Amino acid sequence: MSNEIRVRFAPSPTGYLHVGGLRTALYNYLYARKVGGKFILRIEDTDRTRYVEGAVENLINSLKEVGLDFDEGPEVGGNFGPYFQSERTELYQKHAKELLEADKAYRCFCTPEDLQKMREERQAQGLDTRYDGRCRKLTEEEIKAKIAAGEPFVIREKLPPEGEIFFYDLVREKVTFPWDMVDDQVLIKSDGYPTYHFANVIDDHYMQISHVIRGEEWLSSVPKHLFLYDAFGWKPPKMAHLPLLLNSDKSKLSKRQGDVAVEDYLAKGYIPHALVNFVALLGWHAKGDQELFEMDELIKAFSLKRINKAGAVFDVEKLQWMNSHYMKNMKLTDIADLAKPFVEKAGYDISENKKYLAAVRFARERVSLLTQLAEEIKPFYITPEISAEYTELSEEENSQNIFNFWAEKLAEKDVWQEDEINALIKETTTATGAKGKNLYFPIRLALFGTVHGPEIPLIIGLIGTKEAIKRFRNLIK
Ligand code: GLU
Repeated sequence: MSNEIRVRFAPSPTGYLHVGGLRTALYNYLYARKVGGKFILRIEDTDRTRYVEGAVENLINSLKEVGLDFDEGPEVGGNFGPYFQSERTELYQKHAKELLEADKAYRCFCTPEDLQKMREERQAQGLDTRYDGRCRKLTEEEIKAKIAAGEPFVIREKLPPEGEIFFYDLVREKVTFPWDMVDDQVLIKSDGYPTYHFANVIDDHYMQISHVIRGEEWLSSVPKHLFLYDAFGWKPPKMAHLPLLLNSDKSKLSKRQGDVAVEDYLAKGYIPHALVNFVALLGWHAKGDQELFEMDELIKAFSLKRINKAGAVFDVEKLQWMNSHYMKNMKLTDIADLAKPFVEKAGYDISENKKYLAAVRFARERVSLLTQLAEEIKPFYITPEISAEYTELSEEENSQNIFNFWAEKLAEKDVWQEDEINALIKETTTATGAKGKNLYFPIRLALFGTVHGPEIPLIIGLIGTKEAIKRFRNLIK
């Protein structure tokens, strides 16, 4: 095996990219980029009962949107493919056979009903509900007869009945498990497909994975995996198990308490990099107290040594705070690009780029989500409706005077400069007596549909004189 650092993100395509999956993918990505290694995407799709149409495309899309490009995997290929486990079944079959021959695994003919009964019996006796290993005792003749009779079977690993196993995890340090806590894991199911555990180990070996970086929920599976490495005489990869993600009440992060799909956050208008920055800090911290990182800064600062043991709370308010930060501080053209799909969905035409950028420059200071930005700039494009709360204001005599004055004055020429508009505002006071709120609120209401909002010259500059006149006229009774 070479000394190259090779890490992988190995999701089961269940429909979408979970934020926990994003964290796993990100840490693998950061580590690979930091040390100049390879980041591999492997699709663990051997559970045919959980197959979801379009799930892989969706997953790859989400990874792309947040900027995690992989070096090997579906679409990009590589020397260690195929990168879909469902295309590697022969490899698993071959290795299962080897294990049977070496007496490190055995065929189990127990039906789901047998297993259910066994569990109930064990429970009644106050035992745990592990498989009791009854099929270990079958003789060669019995096995042959069952196979000949067409009885379906699974292949289980033959774990040591007692003693313990320990290993070193880069996060959890020394971890010990007694063997009698570990189930004789099914390696090949009755449909001939491997389980996650088996395929995962075989592939990590053949794909020359040097470091396994994944969620803590897999820590208790490590003994089952190490048994396999040992049985094949392979060197296991180094491992780092990432702390759990928690809801704010410290329970395990769940759908019931909020969104968990990356695509849902993106659809709500979170900036992809804000999500990445936020997720990076769920279980890892930099040396100082820096919290805002560009991707290259994350890569530079990242280290497996600084991964925390304690669970990390998924604090949506912090994510919102980060999002507002990026909203205000990212390059204007980047924000404008990111907002485009939302604006297009809202259905107005932003093809005039200078106008669009000016509108975004104004709106980005006032909102914290891209969806809100699309709403905020709408009055620059679509004549605003006057909402019920402002009908009274728009019908007041003072307002009506102002509307008439502006509709008439603006019509005097086609293009108005900023200072000319400001002069016109002053002139309005002389003509109508309106000052302060009484002056600004009606003007802005007519032009923008709200009493607070952009500076009046900016609105007129962007919507144009004709449209401005129209907006005043619309409100004249
Ligand atoms: N397919 C597993 C999952 O969906 C991969 C776990 C691992 O990285 O080993 O999380």
